[in-house]
Amino acid sequence: MDQVEEVKNKIDVVQLVGEYVKLTKAGRNYKGLCPFHGEKTPSFMVNPELSIYKCFGCGEGGDVISFIQKMEGIEFGEALKILAKRAGITLKSYVPTKREEERETLLRANGLAADYFHFLLTKHDLGRDAKKYLLDRGITEESITRYKLGFAPEGWDYLIKFLADKKGFKLLELERAGLVVPSVKGNSGGYDRFRNRIMFPLCNHRGQVVGFAGRVLPGADEKAGGKYVNTSETELYHKGDLLYGLDVNKSEIKSKNSAVIVEGEIDSIASFQAGVGNVVAIKGSALTARQVELLKRYTDTIILALDADLAGDMAARRGIELAEKAGMIIKVVEAGSLKTNPKKYKDPGEWAIKDGEGWKNAVEEAVGIYDFYITSAVERHGLEAVGKTKVGKELLPIWARIEDEIVKGHYVKKLAGMLGVAEEDVRKQMNKTAGSGGAIKPGLTEDKLEQKRSRREVVEEYAVGLAVRNNKLEELVSPFVAELFRDGFWAKVVEDIKGNLDGERTVKDIVGMMKPELRGRIEELTLIEEELLPDEVEKEWKSAVDELEEATIREKLSGLLGLPGKEEEVTKLVFRLNELTRSR
Ligand SMILES: [Zn+2]
Repeated sequence: MDQVEEVKNKIDVVQLVGEYVKLTKAGRNYKGLCPFHGEKTPSFMVNPELSIYKCFGCGEGGDVISFIQKMEGIEFGEALKILAKRAGITLKSYVPTKREEERETLLRANGLAADYFHFLLTKHDLGRDAKKYLLDRGITEESITRYKLGFAPEGWDYLIKFLADKKGFKLLELERAGLVVPSVKGNSGGYDRFRNRIMFPLCNHRGQVVGFAGRVLPGADEKAGGKYVNTSETELYHKGDLLYGLDVNKSEIKSKNSAVIVEGEIDSIASFQAGVGNVVAIKGSALTARQVELLKRYTDTIILALDADLAGDMAARRGIELAEKAGMIIKVVEAGSLKTNPKKYKDPGEWAIKDGEGWKNAVEEAVGIYDFYITSAVERHGLEAVGKTKVGKELLPIWARIEDEIVKGHYVKKLAGMLGVAEEDVRKQMNKTAGSGGAIKPGLTEDKLEQKRSRREVVEEYAVGLAVRNNKLEELVSPFVAELFRDGFWAKVVEDIKGNLDGERTVKDIVGMMKPELRGRIEELTLIEEELLPDEVEKEWKSAVDELEEATIREKLSGLLGLPGKEEEVTKLVFRLNELTRSR
């Protein structure tokens, strides 16, 4: 057995997937909400026997390695390494691909840069002022360590000297890692991207440094690059994928079953210091699909504490809709309300540092997103006649897009009460505005076209499914039943099973031996949920076989009718056909 197989065999698929998806037992399988597309009813199945998974909603499927690849967004080799480690297997001969090696190099460069900046901030004279500034602003030593804050000194080549001269990286690698800016196009020279800045390493959820945010020190020339300089998009860093602080705060997010979303690195750190450690930061106001997917692994509730005007900011609303579609509960910290934020702190960072308890309470008292929309609209427009019109105008398109009918009903009622009109009128007006306001692309499930299949193919597939799920392979390949298969694909499957079946082999063995082009659909069949009692299985089996026999007879008859010398055969077939149809 090669090592890939060894790793696959040692990993318990249910346990592994269970770390990302809540699974419940469903017959021989387990099912849960698909991590690859948003859904509210489970269509994601895991089969422990074959060690595979499959989503019947979006079509994603595969084995333990592909699962880790997709969940973590990594290459085959990296996934294999993670699982081998988990299984306690030392990989002997795995040769990483060029791409994996390159990625590894860029990660190493970023990691070393973070170490270097951190050293300068905490241990070196060059970082003294920067550290004093952080401490003065209320950032603690503990946070500096936890988030590995650093300092990039004023100068053009501190980092280049360290990474290129001392650690042997090529300038081009440092450029690709986003650490060095090429000085002239085509020229091999370059200079440090981050100069005289406090450095925030941006880590992915696995704690690997993929980029940096650099904040300029006050008094320094802000024109030279702006208050913040971020790593631009690189092979490692994609702005929309990252949740700042997820690597260090994910266990708290899991245990509190909620994630507070703020907009900046400092906001995130300050919140942690105030005892609200289930916090992550995004760049800008809009959650992306990838971020929603990441968060969903740890929690189903997000609490937004963003600077943006959520009702007016289309990008923010789109992010909220994405999260809702993924089945998440969305709450909002009412930072704009005088009741919650009487001192009018301008951002969560200032709030959490100056009044930690207040911030903590505000997060605890976060309100549902739609309640927030109402309060915010009413605060801005008032409830005079003109105000009511404006409130309605603002909220109706949002209401029209609420997917969950129960939630929608609740808020239609609430809005109607608020505006002093009949629910019916709110609904009418809402239906008029439906469709406006930036449509979101429908999910895969909605896009998927049901392929046209013949009744015969459906029944054949059903029979094979019953057989593989209920140890009826012997019956399936018995001459009488096997003869009834006509559809090219399923006939081949039956043929293949017949060739490999001998009393000793399990369903798993048989599926494993199957021709690769046939195997995929068989694996899917094993994942179908079936809750039949043994006698129900027998009944279903008999009726499937009968239907195939009936179809076979009809096909034969249409070829024989009218042919001379075939009368006796026809009579026999008609007799059998009558038997079959009468018994139904
Ligand atoms: Zn899916």
